[in-house]
Amino acid sequence: MPLSKTEAIVLHTRKQGETSKILSLYTLHYGRLSVMAKGARSLKSRYSGVLEPLTHIQIVFYRYEARDLHYLSQAEIVTPFASIHGQLGKMALAAIPCEIIERNEAAGHANPQLFRLLLGSLMTLEEAESGQRQVVRAFILRYLALSGFRGEYRLCLGCGLEKLRERQFFEYGSGGYRCAGCEGRSDEGEPLSRQAMQALHFLGHSELEQSVTLRVNAELGRELDQFLLANLRWHLEGAHYLKSIQYLEKLQQSIHKTQEEEQGKEYGQPDPHHPG
Ligand SMILES: [Zn+2]
Repeated sequence: MPLSKTEAIVLHTRKQGETSKILSLYTLHYGRLSVMAKGARSLKSRYSGVLEPLTHIQIVFYRYEARDLHYLSQAEIVTPFASIHGQLGKMALAAIPCEIIERNEAAGHANPQLFRLLLGSLMTLEEAESGQRQVVRAFILRYLALSGFRGEYRLCLGCGLEKLRERQFFEYGSGGYRCAGCEGRSDEGEPLSRQAMQALHFLGHSELEQSVTLRVNAELGRELDQFLLANLRWHLEGAHYLKSIQYLEKLQQSIHKTQEEEQGKEYGQPDPHHPG
């Protein structure tokens, strides 16, 4: 029974029996893993407060080669993400990358780049005072790229020149648009505004910490979210029925407007409710 050590992000947990928990983890060295934490829910548990969703931990566990469920031996917190846990809006956003990974990644396939992307996204959300939604948008673009579906939002697929118009048809399959001179092949996709293309190019190319500086109004925000979700679903089977996104949509409706979208004036049309 080999003992293994790795860093992990707790994606979610579920109760097992009277006192135990099964953890769904994304780990640095082994990819997605399910790990049983015996007695983790008992009052005297040494894991009290350690094994919460959206926490960055270091674990030692018994790894069984041919099984789907492994057994926890030790765990300690590396990054508690106190700000994420203290704010409902941040928590709802942080749940989206976790659920995307949980639904799309096969168990036991290591992808250190994806681990670093998830950790970096949570770190950026933790620190962000505004623009938090951009972190999730940037995560989705990067996750698609890591999965082999990098999009090109600036240059025409046909001639390779920058020929953005007011609206262009973005093809999901080929991951880009064609200018008026290069049109001819149709594919599944959707029309995107120039502002959306510029925002997507920025989010795909800037550092995660820079992504939060992008300001978008509510209308452009909706266009981006609708496109990113449709693109994700077109490529990845496991992106259908993401509960975290439905939850976020409900939360957004009740909050009415996020801070960023009230401030945002840089890209997109002015918000009619807040002229100027
Ligand atoms: Zn062209």
